[in-house]
Amino acid sequence: MAYAHSVASIALQVQTERVASTTLDRVLPAGRHRIDAIYAHVPFCFHKCHYCDFYSFVDSDDRQEVFVERMEQECAFARDRIDGSLRSVFVGGGTPTLLAPQLLGRMLRAIGGLVGDAKVEWTVEANPETVTQEVAETLVQSGVNRVSVGAQSFESTHLKKLERWHDPANVSRAVDALRKAGIANINLDLIFGIPGQTVEESTRDVQRALSIGIEHLSAYGLTYEPNTAMTKRLMRGEFDPASDDLEAEMYEAIQSLMVHHGYEQYEISNWSKPGLACQHNLTYWRNRPWWALGPSASGFIAGHRFKIVPRLGDWLARGGDAPDGLGAPPILDHEPPDEGRHVSEALMLGLRIVGGISSGEQPGIDATLEARAIELRPERAKLIETALTGGILERAQGRLRLSPRGMLVADGLLSELV
Ligand code: SF4
Repeated sequence: MAYAHSVASIALQVQTERVASTTLDRVLPAGRHRIDAIYAHVPFCFHKCHYCDFYSFVDSDDRQEVFVERMEQECAFARDRIDGSLRSVFVGGGTPTLLAPQLLGRMLRAIGGLVGDAKVEWTVEANPETVTQEVAETLVQSGVNRVSVGAQSFESTHLKKLERWHDPANVSRAVDALRKAGIANINLDLIFGIPGQTVEESTRDVQRALSIGIEHLSAYGLTYEPNTAMTKRLMRGEFDPASDDLEAEMYEAIQSLMVHHGYEQYEISNWSKPGLACQHNLTYWRNRPWWALGPSASGFIAGHRFKIVPRLGDWLARGGDAPDGLGAPPILDHEPPDEGRHVSEALMLGLRIVGGISSGEQPGIDATLEARAIELRPERAKLIETALTGGILERAQGRLRLSPRGMLVADGLLSELV
């Protein structure tokens, strides 16, 4: 089984057709747009981990300041186009906390101008090595109230296999600094299914995460994305990947441990303390609209899907060509609104949520989502029926959802449905 690497990659899994690049102002309808969330991408990292396929790199040209200036322009462009219905902000990467504290604060203040007085869940991703007390204070002073710390594993040998460079001891040090600064909502990211990892070791990682005292856990099976250094090593036969059965065993052990400790599973790979499910994650899985800032960030606004150009140089060079001069981002892979695609995406994303799908959640879809999905592609009826009979899907209280067993084979079923 292969779980998605993160919510950001889930958003990007939605397939778009490559078309000639343009700028966002040329494709969006005029006026303000109702959006639930903002995603901002900071591409800098101090080392490229071998499993990572996010747009991130070690910047030997030291372009942090011009990056932040350009982000300020993108925020200025967004300011007159967002209607103020925001529920969450997520600043990911890359390693946002690698920005110098003064530049980090400057970028967050620009994003804060879009948030205004709204009470939002505001998350920043952090690498444990980069969380100094100064960085933690900068986050809190800028309005950030949730931090997602990339722990991945607490075993140095497994981190090394991922070419992930941080000292596991620094995870709890980072969490302490964040707590001291006033962050009350902390997520840890873990990866399981690392080559050579045992079920006991992946379970111990979760126990260590819990012993630190966290509000949320994301645990993803290691995914071999095309063209990563890890995948190339796998193709060269340098190691054996974890088997599907072993990954399934690890996953089930994590599920029962989390439930035992009072956490609620609300998505295939995510658990939280009651009431603290990540609102930003849910925006993606409910197929709700979000604004995108920064190179390679994908967005979904007024039914338009797009991706801001990756590569920092292109993004810096080509920004700012909106008629009002306010920094419309250059984009790729624009897809205008399309009901068939919208229904497919809503089905694929909504079934990842533990509660599944029901009617009335998708603006623009009149019938229940399931009925419309079958109307558009009749072969889905048989797929759903077979999955229900096979115990992969189940119906409960008017909803269609994955069964606990279905969570183990979700990716296969969801791609067949789409
Ligand atoms: S720190 Fe995160 S974004 Fe940066 S290379 Fe590693 S996995 Fe990728």
